[in-house]
Amino acid sequence: MLEYLFFAPHPDDAELGAGGSILLLKSQGARVGVLDLTDGEPTPHGSPEVRRAETEAATRILGLDWRGNLGLPNRSLVADLEARRRLAGVLRELRPRDLFAPYWEDAHPDHVAASALADAARFWAKLTKTDLPGEPHYPQRILYYFSVHLRLHPRPSFVLDVTPHIEGKMQALACYRSQFIEGRPATPPTLLDSLRDRARYWGWAIGAGYGEPFVCREEVGLRGLRDLV
Ligand SMILES: [Zn+2]
Repeated sequence: MLEYLFFAPHPDDAELGAGGSILLLKSQGARVGVLDLTDGEPTPHGSPEVRRAETEAATRILGLDWRGNLGLPNRSLVADLEARRRLAGVLRELRPRDLFAPYWEDAHPDHVAASALADAARFWAKLTKTDLPGEPHYPQRILYYFSVHLRLHPRPSFVLDVTPHIEGKMQALACYRSQFIEGRPATPPTLLDSLRDRARYWGWAIGAGYGEPFVCREEVGLRGLRDLV
């Protein structure tokens, strides 16, 4: 069983939006998994084999307890009933306490579909009198991370201080050479520089070094104030 499960439309989206947070959760002893919905290919400099090897390398750096790939069609991801059924089945088997999904507003249709699928699968996973595998399960929360193909400035519900884990996040991102390094301008600021800058911006916003923002549609409760940055 997992405590936290991240749904990612493509292998690299969980690292982009929440790589530092995953490392933070792992440093606190949590059980964390990532479910990639597609193989993310084709891309200009990648191939299924290359992307798989890159994903395995990033998975080792993150120290994930579980990583799977649902094998849904890249570029053609649709929030249909069959995809919802398969995702709900994974939720009933892995039984995560909290679920993470991409932010719902995005230029990439796969990201929009993944966000909608996460909402629908979370609800379906709790159904009784169904032929879904496993037992009913309802993740307590669904939190949305940012890996958007838009220059958005949405207001997050909270920002996690990932300062001690920024180098690990950058190492995990650098595993995806075909996505972030090959064929990209090598003169600064590189794409990786700009991804670090974004984490720095969110860190600045909370008076810390580096941060990752999350949105929750429902209210976020606290048991105390001591962990506030
Ligand atoms: Zn993506």
